[in-house]
Amino acid sequence: MCQMCYPKNSPWMPRRGFLALAGATAAAPALAQVDVGGPSRARGLVPAEEIEAASQQQYSEMMAKARQQGALAPDNHPQLQRIRYVASRLIPHSLRWNDRAKGWRWEVNLLGSKQINAFCMPGGKIAIYTGILDQLQLTDDELAMVMGHEIAHAVREHARARIAKQAGTGALLSMGAALFGLGQLGDVAANIGTQLLTLRFSREDEIESDLIGLEMGARGAYVPEASVSLWEKMGKASGGEQGPAFLSTHPTGPDRLARLRDNVPKVRGLYQQAVAASPPVKRQ
Ligand SMILES: [Zn+2]
Repeated sequence: MCQMCYPKNSPWMPRRGFLALAGATAAAPALAQVDVGGPSRARGLVPAEEIEAASQQQYSEMMAKARQQGALAPDNHPQLQRIRYVASRLIPHSLRWNDRAKGWRWEVNLLGSKQINAFCMPGGKIAIYTGILDQLQLTDDELAMVMGHEIAHAVREHARARIAKQAGTGALLSMGAALFGLGQLGDVAANIGTQLLTLRFSREDEIESDLIGLEMGARGAYVPEASVSLWEKMGKASGGEQGPAFLSTHPTGPDRLARLRDNVPKVRGLYQQAVAASPPVKRQ
C-alpha cells in the first residue's frame, strides 16, 4: 500500500467480500522481461509471517470499519466485480516474483471514497477506492496497471524491507520472540500493523513496482501503453483537490513516464501471447 485513508461517506449497505484464489496456479517458469534485480536482502530481518499476520489484522479492521460506515461495496456491485475480474487475471502472474504468494489468502475490496487511492498490503490484501476509478476515469487496462503496481509492492515485500530497515524493529522482534513469547509478539504485530499504514516506499521500490506491474498487466492481456496513460492521468490529477493522498507518494515526473515508455516494447511479446491465449480478456 502506499497511503491509506479511511473512507468517509458511502451509499452502500454494509457487507464484506473477499476473493479466494486458492485455485490460482503459478504460470510456467520464465524469466521476467523487465529488469528489476533481486529482492531486498534487508527484508530477511523480519519474518514474513509476522508482516503478513499484522497486515491481515490491519486490513480486517479497515474493512470492518468501512462496513460499519456503509463504505464497503457488496459482492454484487458491478465495479467490485470488475476489479475482482482484473485481479483474477493478474494474481496468477504475480506468483513468479514470490513463491509465498501461492499461499496467500488474497482479498479484493472496493471502498467508497473520493480519495484517489489503491493498495495491496502484504499477504495479498487489495483495496481500490472509488475515487481512483471515477476521478481518473480508468479504463480496464489502466486499472490493471495500477493494480499490478500495488500487487508488485506486496510480492516484492517492500513493506517488509522498509520495516526491517527501520532502526530497532528487527531487534525488537527477536527480543520479543526470545524473552516474552507469543503474547509479546502479538504486541509487536500490532506495532507493525500501525507502521504499515504510514509507510513510504523508496524511489527504487516505486520503479520496481512500475516495471513489475507493467509486466504483470501485459501477461494478463492488458495493453502495455496503459501504464503510460495511467501515470499521465495521475500527473494531471496531482493538482486536484483529491490528489495528495496517493499522488504525494507517487510523483509522476518525466522520468517515470520515460521509463515506462522504454519498457513497453520489452513486454509487447508477452502481451501478444496473452491476447492470443484463451479465454480472451473481458473489458467493461
Ligand atoms: Zn507505489
